[in-house]
Amino acid sequence: MPSPQSTPAALPLLPIDGNKRKCYGCWACANVCPKDAIVMTDDEEGFSYPRIEASFCTGCDRCIHVCPAANLSRLPDPLPAPEVLAAWHLDSEVRRQSSSGGVFTALAEEVLSKKGLVFGAVFDQDFVLVHRAATTKDELGRTRGSKYLQSRMGDAYCQAKTALKSKAWVLFVGTPCQIAGLKNYLDKEYETLVTCDLVCHGVPSPKVFQSYLAELAAQRHHPKTETVSFRNKRLGWKKFSMSVAFVNGERHEQALTEDPFLIGFLRDLYLRPSCHACQFSCIPRVADITLGDFWGIGGSRPELDDDRGTSLLLINSTRGKAFFELCRKKLFSSPCSLAAAIASNSCLIQPVAAAKDRDRFFETMREQGFAAAQKKFTPSPTLFRRMRSLLRTYAATIVRKARRFVRNQGLNHSD
Ligand SMILES: Cc1cc2nc3c(=O)[nH]c(=O)nc-3n(C[C@H](O)[C@H](O)[C@H](O)COP(=O)(O)OP(=O)(O)OC[C@H]3O[C@@H](n4cnc5c(N)ncnc54)[C@H](O)[C@@H]3O)c2cc1C
Repeated sequence: MPSPQSTPAALPLLPIDGNKRKCYGCWACANVCPKDAIVMTDDEEGFSYPRIEASFCTGCDRCIHVCPAANLSRLPDPLPAPEVLAAWHLDSEVRRQSSSGGVFTALAEEVLSKKGLVFGAVFDQDFVLVHRAATTKDELGRTRGSKYLQSRMGDAYCQAKTALKSKAWVLFVGTPCQIAGLKNYLDKEYETLVTCDLVCHGVPSPKVFQSYLAELAAQRHHPKTETVSFRNKRLGWKKFSMSVAFVNGERHEQALTEDPFLIGFLRDLYLRPSCHACQFSCIPRVADITLGDFWGIGGSRPELDDDRGTSLLLINSTRGKAFFELCRKKLFSSPCSLAAAIASNSCLIQPVAAAKDRDRFFETMREQGFAAAQKKFTPSPTLFRRMRSLLRTYAATIVRKARRFVRNQGLNHSD
Protein backbone atom coordinates (compact mmCIF):
# COMPACT_ATOMS: atom_id res chain seq x y z
CA MET A 1 0.00 0.00 0.00
CA PRO A 2 1.28 3.52 -0.72
CA SER A 3 1.62 5.84 2.25
CA PRO A 4 -0.91 8.68 2.35
CA GLN A 5 0.48 12.22 1.99
CA SER A 6 0.17 14.26 5.17
CA THR A 7 -0.66 17.45 3.23
CA PRO A 8 -2.84 16.77 0.16
CA ALA A 9 -1.04 18.07 -2.96
CA ALA A 10 -2.69 20.00 -5.80
CA LEU A 11 -4.12 17.24 -7.95
CA PRO A 12 -2.84 16.94 -11.53
CA LEU A 13 -5.44 18.00 -14.08
CA LEU A 14 -5.75 14.97 -16.35
CA PRO A 15 -7.04 15.73 -19.86
CA ILE A 16 -10.06 13.59 -19.07
CA ASP A 17 -11.29 16.07 -16.46
CA GLY A 18 -14.66 17.26 -17.66
CA ASN A 19 -14.37 15.64 -21.10
CA LYS A 20 -14.69 11.90 -21.57
CA ARG A 21 -13.87 12.11 -25.27
CA LYS A 22 -10.30 12.94 -24.20
CA CYS A 23 -9.56 9.79 -22.20
CA TYR A 24 -8.73 6.64 -24.18
CA GLY A 25 -8.73 4.40 -21.10
CA CYS A 26 -5.23 3.13 -21.95
CA TRP A 27 -4.07 2.89 -18.29
CA ALA A 28 -0.70 4.60 -18.95
CA CYS A 29 -1.35 7.02 -16.06
CA ALA A 30 -2.17 4.18 -13.66
CA ASN A 31 0.97 2.27 -14.73
CA VAL A 32 3.31 5.25 -14.30
CA CYS A 33 2.08 6.58 -10.95
CA PRO A 34 4.88 5.95 -8.41
CA LYS A 35 2.40 6.10 -5.51
CA ASP A 36 -0.35 3.89 -6.98
CA ALA A 37 -2.58 6.91 -6.51
CA ILE A 38 -4.56 6.31 -9.71
CA VAL A 39 -7.42 3.86 -9.64
CA MET A 40 -9.17 2.94 -12.87
CA THR A 41 -12.89 3.06 -12.20
CA ASP A 42 -15.77 2.05 -14.46
CA ASP A 43 -18.38 4.67 -15.31
CA GLU A 44 -22.08 3.93 -15.78
CA GLU A 45 -21.43 2.88 -19.42
CA GLY A 46 -18.78 0.35 -18.31
CA PHE A 47 -15.67 2.19 -19.59
CA SER A 48 -12.79 2.74 -17.18
CA TYR A 49 -11.42 6.18 -16.32
CA PRO A 50 -8.65 7.24 -13.94
CA ARG A 51 -9.59 8.52 -10.50
CA ILE A 52 -6.87 10.14 -8.42
CA GLU A 53 -6.75 9.23 -4.73
CA ALA A 54 -5.98 12.69 -3.33
CA SER A 55 -4.39 11.41 -0.15
CA PHE A 56 -1.71 9.43 -2.08
CA CYS A 57 -0.96 11.95 -4.85
CA THR A 58 2.29 13.91 -4.61
CA GLY A 59 1.47 16.12 -7.62
CA CYS A 60 4.46 14.85 -9.67
CA ASP A 61 2.40 15.19 -12.90
CA ARG A 62 3.85 12.00 -14.44
CA CYS A 63 0.30 10.93 -15.25
CA ILE A 64 -0.11 14.00 -17.45
CA HIS A 65 3.18 13.44 -19.27
CA VAL A 66 2.29 9.88 -20.31
CA CYS A 67 -1.28 10.63 -21.37
CA PRO A 68 -1.61 10.02 -25.15
CA ALA A 69 -4.47 12.53 -25.31
CA ALA A 70 -2.06 15.25 -24.19
CA ASN A 71 1.17 13.98 -25.79
CA LEU A 72 1.06 12.39 -29.22
CA SER A 73 3.71 9.73 -29.68
CA ARG A 74 5.43 9.29 -33.02
CA LEU A 75 7.60 6.57 -34.55
CA PRO A 76 11.31 7.45 -34.37
CA ASP A 77 12.12 5.71 -37.67
CA PRO A 78 9.09 5.97 -39.98
CA LEU A 79 9.33 4.82 -43.59
CA PRO A 80 8.59 7.65 -46.07
CA ALA A 81 5.26 5.87 -46.75
CA PRO A 82 3.89 2.63 -45.30
CA GLU A 83 4.50 -0.54 -47.29
CA VAL A 84 1.10 -2.09 -47.94
CA LEU A 85 0.60 -5.84 -48.30
CA ALA A 86 -2.27 -8.27 -48.57
CA ALA A 87 -1.20 -11.36 -46.65
CA TRP A 88 -2.16 -14.58 -44.93
CA HIS A 89 -0.58 -17.29 -42.82
CA LEU A 90 0.45 -20.35 -44.86
CA ASP A 91 -0.91 -22.70 -42.16
CA SER A 92 -4.59 -23.01 -43.10
CA GLU A 93 -5.61 -24.01 -39.55
CA VAL A 94 -4.01 -20.85 -38.10
CA ARG A 95 -5.78 -18.84 -40.78
CA ARG A 96 -9.14 -20.46 -39.95
CA GLN A 97 -8.74 -19.61 -36.26
CA SER A 98 -7.69 -16.00 -36.92
CA SER A 99 -9.97 -13.04 -37.58
CA SER A 100 -8.34 -11.95 -40.81
CA GLY A 101 -5.43 -13.73 -42.50
CA GLY A 102 -3.58 -14.72 -39.32
CA VAL A 103 -0.60 -12.39 -39.77
CA PHE A 104 -0.60 -11.69 -36.03
CA THR A 105 0.29 -15.35 -35.38
CA ALA A 106 3.27 -15.22 -37.75
CA LEU A 107 4.64 -12.16 -35.89
CA ALA A 108 3.97 -13.76 -32.50
CA GLU A 109 5.60 -17.08 -33.43
CA GLU A 110 8.80 -15.26 -34.33
CA VAL A 111 8.92 -13.57 -30.90
CA LEU A 112 8.12 -16.82 -29.08
CA SER A 113 10.96 -18.53 -30.99
CA LYS A 114 13.25 -15.89 -29.42
CA LYS A 115 11.83 -16.76 -25.95
CA GLY A 116 10.10 -13.39 -25.89
CA LEU A 117 6.69 -12.16 -24.67
CA VAL A 118 3.63 -11.46 -26.80
CA PHE A 119 1.16 -9.03 -25.24
CA GLY A 120 -2.42 -9.15 -26.49
CA ALA A 121 -6.04 -9.32 -25.34
CA VAL A 122 -7.43 -12.47 -23.70
CA PHE A 123 -10.58 -13.33 -21.76
CA ASP A 124 -10.19 -14.14 -18.07
CA GLN A 125 -12.39 -16.77 -16.39
CA ASP A 126 -15.30 -14.28 -16.11
CA PHE A 127 -15.07 -13.21 -19.76
CA VAL A 128 -13.58 -9.87 -18.85
CA LEU A 129 -11.09 -8.85 -21.54
CA VAL A 130 -7.61 -8.18 -20.17
CA HIS A 131 -4.16 -7.57 -21.66
CA ARG A 132 -1.76 -10.42 -20.85
CA ALA A 133 1.62 -11.73 -21.95
CA ALA A 134 1.77 -15.06 -23.79
CA THR A 135 5.02 -17.03 -23.62
CA THR A 136 3.85 -20.40 -24.97
CA LYS A 137 1.96 -21.66 -28.06
CA ASP A 138 -1.04 -22.58 -25.87
CA GLU A 139 -1.26 -19.08 -24.45
CA LEU A 140 -0.92 -17.68 -27.96
CA GLY A 141 -4.07 -19.59 -28.95
CA ARG A 142 -6.13 -17.57 -26.44
CA THR A 143 -4.57 -14.31 -27.60
CA ARG A 144 -5.51 -14.96 -31.21
CA GLY A 145 -8.73 -13.44 -32.58
CA SER A 146 -10.40 -10.03 -32.40
CA LYS A 147 -12.50 -9.37 -29.34
CA TYR A 148 -14.75 -6.40 -29.99
CA LEU A 149 -14.44 -4.82 -26.56
CA GLN A 150 -12.13 -2.51 -24.71
CA SER A 151 -9.51 -4.59 -22.88
CA ARG A 152 -8.29 -3.72 -19.38
CA MET A 153 -4.56 -3.03 -19.50
CA GLY A 154 -3.82 -3.71 -15.81
CA ASP A 155 -0.04 -3.55 -15.25
CA ALA A 156 0.86 -4.90 -18.73
CA TYR A 157 2.95 -1.80 -19.55
CA CYS A 158 5.01 -2.29 -16.37
CA GLN A 159 5.51 -5.98 -17.22
CA ALA A 160 6.61 -5.13 -20.77
CA LYS A 161 9.13 -2.61 -19.43
CA THR A 162 10.60 -5.13 -17.00
CA ALA A 163 11.01 -7.65 -19.84
CA LEU A 164 12.56 -5.06 -22.17
CA LYS A 165 15.04 -3.96 -19.51
CA SER A 166 16.27 -7.54 -19.32
CA LYS A 167 16.67 -7.46 -23.14
CA ALA A 168 13.82 -9.92 -23.85
CA TRP A 169 11.91 -9.59 -27.11
CA VAL A 170 8.43 -8.09 -26.75
CA LEU A 171 5.65 -7.96 -29.33
CA PHE A 172 2.93 -5.64 -28.05
CA VAL A 173 -0.40 -5.74 -29.92
CA GLY A 174 -3.30 -3.43 -29.17
CA THR A 175 -5.56 -0.67 -30.36
CA PRO A 176 -3.66 2.41 -31.59
CA CYS A 177 -4.37 4.33 -28.37
CA GLN A 178 -3.02 1.44 -26.28
CA ILE A 179 0.19 1.44 -28.33
CA ALA A 180 0.45 5.22 -27.90
CA GLY A 181 -0.02 4.77 -24.14
CA LEU A 182 2.72 2.12 -24.05
CA LYS A 183 5.19 4.27 -25.96
CA ASN A 184 4.59 7.30 -23.77
CA TYR A 185 4.91 5.13 -20.70
CA LEU A 186 8.23 3.59 -21.85
CA ASP A 187 9.53 7.02 -22.94
CA LYS A 188 12.56 5.38 -24.53
CA GLU A 189 13.34 3.18 -27.52
CA TYR A 190 14.11 -0.49 -26.91
CA GLU A 191 15.75 -2.51 -29.69
CA THR A 192 13.82 -5.67 -28.81
CA LEU A 193 10.37 -4.05 -28.86
CA VAL A 194 8.02 -4.45 -31.82
CA THR A 195 4.68 -2.65 -31.65
CA CYS A 196 1.63 -3.65 -33.65
CA ASP A 197 -1.60 -1.65 -33.75
CA LEU A 198 -4.94 -2.70 -35.21
CA VAL A 199 -7.00 -0.79 -37.72
CA CYS A 200 -9.67 0.12 -35.19
CA HIS A 201 -13.37 0.75 -35.69
CA GLY A 202 -13.61 1.62 -31.96
CA VAL A 203 -14.03 -0.37 -28.76
CA PRO A 204 -17.49 -1.35 -27.51
CA SER A 205 -18.51 -1.11 -23.86
CA PRO A 206 -17.56 -4.14 -21.72
CA LYS A 207 -20.76 -3.57 -19.71
CA VAL A 208 -22.91 -3.89 -22.83
CA PHE A 209 -21.10 -7.12 -23.69
CA GLN A 210 -21.65 -8.56 -20.19
CA SER A 211 -25.39 -7.74 -20.41
CA TYR A 212 -25.57 -9.38 -23.84
CA LEU A 213 -23.80 -12.52 -22.54
CA ALA A 214 -25.98 -12.68 -19.42
CA GLU A 215 -29.15 -12.41 -21.52
CA LEU A 216 -27.96 -15.17 -23.89
CA ALA A 217 -27.29 -17.41 -20.87
CA ALA A 218 -30.65 -16.51 -19.27
CA GLN A 219 -32.49 -17.71 -22.41
CA ARG A 220 -30.84 -21.10 -21.75
CA HIS A 221 -31.36 -21.33 -17.96
CA HIS A 222 -27.97 -19.81 -17.09
CA PRO A 223 -25.30 -22.30 -18.20
CA LYS A 224 -21.71 -21.10 -17.82
CA THR A 225 -20.10 -19.60 -20.93
CA GLU A 226 -17.29 -21.74 -22.33
CA THR A 227 -15.94 -19.85 -25.36
CA VAL A 228 -16.71 -16.68 -27.30
CA SER A 229 -15.64 -15.93 -30.86
CA PHE A 230 -16.54 -12.62 -32.47
CA ARG A 231 -15.14 -13.73 -35.82
CA ASN A 232 -16.25 -17.29 -36.51
CA LYS A 233 -15.53 -18.08 -40.17
CA ARG A 234 -17.98 -20.99 -40.65
CA LEU A 235 -19.97 -18.90 -43.14
CA GLY A 236 -16.82 -17.31 -44.55
CA TRP A 237 -14.47 -14.42 -43.72
CA LYS A 238 -16.72 -11.72 -45.13
CA LYS A 239 -19.88 -13.09 -43.52
CA PHE A 240 -18.34 -13.68 -40.10
CA SER A 241 -20.46 -14.73 -37.12
CA MET A 242 -20.60 -14.30 -33.38
CA SER A 243 -20.33 -17.68 -31.73
CA VAL A 244 -20.87 -18.33 -28.01
CA ALA A 245 -20.56 -21.87 -26.64
CA PHE A 246 -21.96 -22.86 -23.24
CA VAL A 247 -20.66 -25.65 -21.00
CA ASN A 248 -23.93 -27.61 -21.37
CA GLY A 249 -23.25 -27.99 -25.09
CA GLU A 250 -25.68 -25.28 -26.25
CA ARG A 251 -24.43 -22.71 -28.71
CA HIS A 252 -25.43 -19.28 -30.01
CA GLU A 253 -24.25 -18.52 -33.54
CA GLN A 254 -25.42 -15.60 -35.67
CA ALA A 255 -23.90 -13.79 -38.62
CA LEU A 256 -22.85 -10.13 -38.39
CA THR A 257 -26.14 -9.04 -39.96
CA GLU A 258 -28.20 -10.98 -37.39
CA ASP A 259 -26.35 -10.94 -34.08
CA PRO A 260 -27.61 -8.10 -31.85
CA PHE A 261 -24.19 -7.32 -30.32
CA LEU A 262 -22.39 -7.16 -33.69
CA ILE A 263 -25.19 -5.10 -35.24
CA GLY A 264 -25.00 -2.51 -32.45
CA PHE A 265 -21.18 -2.46 -32.63
CA LEU A 266 -21.15 -1.87 -36.38
CA ARG A 267 -23.87 0.80 -35.97
CA ASP A 268 -21.59 2.64 -33.47
CA LEU A 269 -24.21 2.53 -30.72
CA TYR A 270 -21.91 1.78 -27.79
CA LEU A 271 -18.29 2.66 -28.55
CA ARG A 272 -16.10 4.50 -26.05
CA PRO A 273 -16.66 8.28 -26.39
CA SER A 274 -12.95 8.87 -27.21
CA CYS A 275 -13.23 6.53 -30.24
CA HIS A 276 -15.30 9.19 -31.98
CA ALA A 277 -12.51 11.75 -31.58
CA CYS A 278 -9.58 9.35 -32.01
CA GLN A 279 -6.31 11.07 -32.94
CA PHE A 280 -4.72 7.77 -33.97
CA SER A 281 -7.08 6.84 -36.81
CA CYS A 282 -4.61 8.32 -39.26
CA ILE A 283 -1.49 7.78 -41.32
CA PRO A 284 1.33 7.94 -40.20
CA ARG A 285 0.45 5.20 -37.75
CA VAL A 286 1.68 4.98 -34.18
CA ALA A 287 3.10 1.42 -34.38
CA ASP A 288 5.84 -0.37 -36.33
CA ILE A 289 3.26 -2.61 -37.98
CA THR A 290 -0.50 -2.17 -38.49
CA LEU A 291 -2.90 -5.09 -38.97
CA GLY A 292 -6.45 -5.15 -40.28
CA ASP A 293 -8.81 -6.86 -42.67
CA PHE A 294 -8.22 -6.21 -46.34
CA TRP A 295 -11.92 -5.57 -46.96
CA GLY A 296 -12.73 -4.97 -50.60
CA ILE A 297 -9.55 -6.59 -51.95
CA GLY A 298 -11.65 -9.05 -53.98
CA GLY A 299 -12.97 -6.14 -56.08
CA SER A 300 -9.61 -5.09 -57.52
CA ARG A 301 -7.59 -8.31 -56.96
CA PRO A 302 -9.99 -11.29 -56.96
CA GLU A 303 -7.06 -13.72 -56.72
CA LEU A 304 -6.35 -12.35 -53.21
CA ASP A 305 -9.80 -13.16 -51.82
CA ASP A 306 -10.78 -16.80 -51.32
CA ASP A 307 -13.07 -15.81 -48.40
CA ARG A 308 -10.79 -17.55 -45.90
CA GLY A 309 -9.32 -14.26 -44.61
CA THR A 310 -6.97 -11.71 -46.11
CA SER A 311 -5.01 -9.48 -43.75
CA LEU A 312 -4.14 -5.91 -44.49
CA LEU A 313 -0.58 -5.29 -43.37
CA LEU A 314 1.08 -1.86 -43.16
CA ILE A 315 4.79 -1.76 -42.44
CA ASN A 316 5.38 1.67 -40.99
CA SER A 317 8.96 1.80 -39.71
CA THR A 318 12.44 0.49 -40.45
CA ARG A 319 12.19 -1.69 -37.36
CA GLY A 320 8.83 -3.05 -38.56
CA LYS A 321 10.39 -3.83 -41.94
CA ALA A 322 13.38 -5.65 -40.48
CA PHE A 323 11.13 -7.65 -38.15
CA PHE A 324 8.67 -8.51 -40.92
CA GLU A 325 11.52 -9.97 -43.01
CA LEU A 326 12.06 -12.53 -40.21
CA CYS A 327 8.38 -13.58 -40.34
CA ARG A 328 7.87 -13.49 -44.10
CA LYS A 329 8.61 -17.21 -44.60
CA LYS A 330 5.40 -18.12 -42.75
CA LEU A 331 3.22 -15.92 -44.93
CA PHE A 332 1.87 -15.48 -48.40
CA SER A 333 2.05 -11.74 -49.20
CA SER A 334 1.45 -9.48 -52.17
CA PRO A 335 2.11 -5.71 -52.44
CA CYS A 336 -0.96 -3.48 -52.83
CA SER A 337 -1.69 0.23 -52.94
CA LEU A 338 -2.57 2.35 -49.91
CA ALA A 339 -5.54 3.71 -51.86
CA ALA A 340 -6.94 0.16 -52.18
CA ALA A 341 -6.53 -0.33 -48.44
CA ILE A 342 -8.30 2.89 -47.52
CA ALA A 343 -11.10 2.47 -50.10
CA SER A 344 -12.97 -0.13 -48.02
CA ASN A 345 -11.56 0.68 -44.60
CA SER A 346 -12.07 4.32 -43.72
CA CYS A 347 -11.14 3.62 -40.06
CA LEU A 348 -7.53 3.69 -41.26
CA ILE A 349 -7.72 7.45 -41.72
CA GLN A 350 -10.68 8.74 -39.72
CA PRO A 351 -12.71 7.90 -36.62
CA VAL A 352 -16.35 6.87 -36.91
CA ALA A 353 -19.15 9.17 -35.74
CA ALA A 354 -21.34 8.10 -32.82
CA ALA A 355 -24.86 6.89 -33.60
CA LYS A 356 -27.30 9.69 -32.88
CA ASP A 357 -29.18 7.41 -30.47
CA ARG A 358 -26.07 6.50 -28.45
CA ASP A 359 -27.12 8.25 -25.20
CA ARG A 360 -30.71 7.07 -25.45
CA PHE A 361 -29.45 3.52 -26.02
CA PHE A 362 -27.53 3.58 -22.71
CA GLU A 363 -30.51 5.11 -20.87
CA THR A 364 -32.81 2.39 -22.18
CA MET A 365 -30.28 -0.35 -21.42
CA ARG A 366 -30.04 0.86 -17.81
CA GLU A 367 -33.81 0.64 -17.46
CA GLN A 368 -34.75 -2.35 -19.61
CA GLY A 369 -31.59 -4.36 -20.35
CA PHE A 370 -29.53 -4.90 -23.50
CA ALA A 371 -31.98 -6.80 -25.72
CA ALA A 372 -34.76 -4.23 -25.29
CA ALA A 373 -32.41 -1.29 -25.93
CA GLN A 374 -30.82 -2.97 -28.91
CA LYS A 375 -34.21 -3.76 -30.46
CA LYS A 376 -35.37 -0.20 -29.93
CA PHE A 377 -32.39 1.43 -31.60
CA THR A 378 -31.50 -0.95 -34.41
CA PRO A 379 -34.00 -1.87 -37.09
CA SER A 380 -34.74 -5.60 -37.17
CA PRO A 381 -32.20 -7.33 -39.42
CA THR A 382 -34.86 -8.59 -41.80
CA LEU A 383 -36.39 -5.13 -42.16
CA PHE A 384 -32.89 -3.65 -42.52
CA ARG A 385 -31.98 -6.21 -45.17
CA ARG A 386 -35.27 -5.66 -46.99
CA MET A 387 -34.70 -1.90 -47.05
CA ARG A 388 -31.12 -2.36 -48.23
CA SER A 389 -32.17 -4.62 -51.06
CA LEU A 390 -35.03 -2.22 -52.02
CA LEU A 391 -32.54 0.66 -52.09
CA ARG A 392 -30.12 -1.38 -54.21
CA THR A 393 -32.88 -2.28 -56.71
CA TYR A 394 -33.98 1.34 -56.81
CA ALA A 395 -30.39 2.56 -57.38
CA ALA A 396 -29.86 -0.05 -60.12
CA THR A 397 -33.07 1.08 -61.89
CA ILE A 398 -31.95 4.69 -61.78
CA VAL A 399 -28.52 3.77 -63.17
CA ARG A 400 -30.14 1.71 -65.94
CA LYS A 401 -32.51 4.57 -66.85
CA ALA A 402 -29.66 7.09 -66.78
CA ARG A 403 -27.54 4.90 -69.09
CA ARG A 404 -30.46 4.49 -71.49
CA PHE A 405 -31.01 8.24 -71.43
CA VAL A 406 -27.32 8.95 -72.19
CA ARG A 407 -27.37 6.37 -74.98
CA ASN A 408 -30.50 7.91 -76.48
CA GLN A 409 -29.03 11.39 -76.24
CA GLY A 410 -25.94 10.10 -78.05
CA LEU A 411 -28.10 8.65 -80.80
CA ASN A 412 -30.00 11.91 -81.15
CA HIS A 413 -26.72 13.84 -81.45
CA SER A 414 -25.42 11.57 -84.16
CA ASP A 415 -28.70 11.90 -86.10
C1 LIG B 1 -11.97 -3.47 -31.35
C2 LIG B 1 -11.40 -3.81 -32.70
C3 LIG B 1 -11.82 -3.11 -33.83
C4 LIG B 1 -11.30 -3.42 -35.10
N1 LIG B 1 -11.72 -2.70 -36.20
C5 LIG B 1 -11.23 -3.00 -37.42
C6 LIG B 1 -11.65 -2.27 -38.58
O1 LIG B 1 -12.50 -1.39 -38.53
N2 LIG B 1 -11.07 -2.59 -39.78
C7 LIG B 1 -10.12 -3.56 -39.88
O2 LIG B 1 -9.63 -3.79 -40.98
N3 LIG B 1 -9.70 -4.25 -38.80
C8 LIG B 1 -10.23 -4.00 -37.58
N4 LIG B 1 -9.79 -4.70 -36.48
C9 LIG B 1 -8.67 -5.65 -36.63
C10 LIG B 1 -9.09 -7.02 -37.13
O3 LIG B 1 -10.31 -7.43 -36.55
C11 LIG B 1 -8.03 -8.08 -36.78
O4 LIG B 1 -7.78 -8.05 -35.40
C12 LIG B 1 -6.71 -7.85 -37.45
O5 LIG B 1 -6.92 -7.86 -38.83
C13 LIG B 1 -5.67 -8.92 -37.08
O6 LIG B 1 -6.10 -10.14 -37.56
P1 LIG B 1 -5.15 -11.42 -37.64
O7 LIG B 1 -5.91 -12.46 -38.37
O8 LIG B 1 -3.80 -11.04 -38.15
O9 LIG B 1 -4.89 -11.80 -36.14
P2 LIG B 1 -5.80 -12.35 -34.95
O10 LIG B 1 -5.35 -13.70 -34.58
O11 LIG B 1 -7.21 -12.16 -35.23
O12 LIG B 1 -5.29 -11.43 -33.75
C14 LIG B 1 -5.84 -10.26 -33.29
C15 LIG B 1 -4.84 -9.57 -32.39
O13 LIG B 1 -5.50 -8.45 -31.81
C16 LIG B 1 -5.46 -8.53 -30.39
N5 LIG B 1 -6.76 -8.07 -29.90
C17 LIG B 1 -7.93 -8.71 -30.03
N6 LIG B 1 -8.91 -8.00 -29.48
C18 LIG B 1 -8.34 -6.89 -28.96
C19 LIG B 1 -8.84 -5.77 -28.25
N7 LIG B 1 -10.14 -5.65 -27.95
N8 LIG B 1 -7.98 -4.82 -27.89
C20 LIG B 1 -6.67 -4.91 -28.16
N9 LIG B 1 -6.12 -5.96 -28.84
C21 LIG B 1 -6.96 -6.92 -29.24
C22 LIG B 1 -5.25 -9.99 -30.08
O14 LIG B 1 -4.67 -10.13 -28.83
C23 LIG B 1 -4.34 -10.40 -31.23
O15 LIG B 1 -3.05 -9.99 -30.92
C24 LIG B 1 -10.31 -4.44 -35.21
C25 LIG B 1 -9.92 -5.15 -34.08
C26 LIG B 1 -10.44 -4.85 -32.82
C27 LIG B 1 -9.97 -5.63 -31.62
